[in-house]
Amino acid sequence: MTYCVGLTGGVGSGKSTAARLFADLGAALVDTDAIAHALTAAHGAAMVAIEAEFGGEVIAADGSLNRAAMRSLVFSEGGARQRLEQILHPLILREAQRQVAGARAPYVILIVPLLVENLATYRPLIDRIAVVDCEEPQQIERTSRRPGISGNQARAILAAQSPRAARLAIADDLLDNRAGLAELEAQVRRLHQIYLGHPRKKQ
Ligand code: ATP
Repeated sequence: MTYCVGLTGGVGSGKSTAARLFADLGAALVDTDAIAHALTAAHGAAMVAIEAEFGGEVIAADGSLNRAAMRSLVFSEGGARQRLEQILHPLILREAQRQVAGARAPYVILIVPLLVENLATYRPLIDRIAVVDCEEPQQIERTSRRPGISGNQARAILAAQSPRAARLAIADDLLDNRAGLAELEAQVRRLHQIYLGHPRKKQ
């Protein structure tokens, strides 16, 4: 199996930016958010099961997941989130496994935003964990740069995630993204050299 580094970090911490820097050096990227999105796009592999579980009201006209309808169902109906995750998680894991196994690169960066919350699921796939970290006000400022996301929405997303300390506790390697992009790039270069040697886990 291809050597696999799980990359995580809180909202707006710089996961995508760090992943791109690893890819520039030759790592393959596997993005669990992108996989989840593809599974719930029109004709996505999760859509038949989602329609069977929740009915046509969560299906958009083009056959993709109606995300607004699903969000309000999750909000109003206890257990809806777990039912959705029971459908999605095994499919995401299987597709991530397939992409990791098929990667043609010295190692894979597997981006899992909620790795702390789903550690048991991804453990078997991951050889090492890298955590991107910055201060919470920086997370909020960087997240609210995204079009359509206000500072308050960024704060709400941050509050719903596991705490910073929980992410730091699972890190084998830390990418300190409190400074600028040049500093992040220097750390990525250093870790890249280490990952080329396929190091064993520290824990
Ligand atoms: P999300 O959780 O929303 O997917 P993310 O963790 O993938 O976010 P990025 O998208 O990489 O984070 O970064 C969030 C924003 O912060 C982007 O606009 C990015 O360009 C910017 N950014 C990342 N690192 C830095 C840095 N060191 N200094 C300044 N801006 C940065």
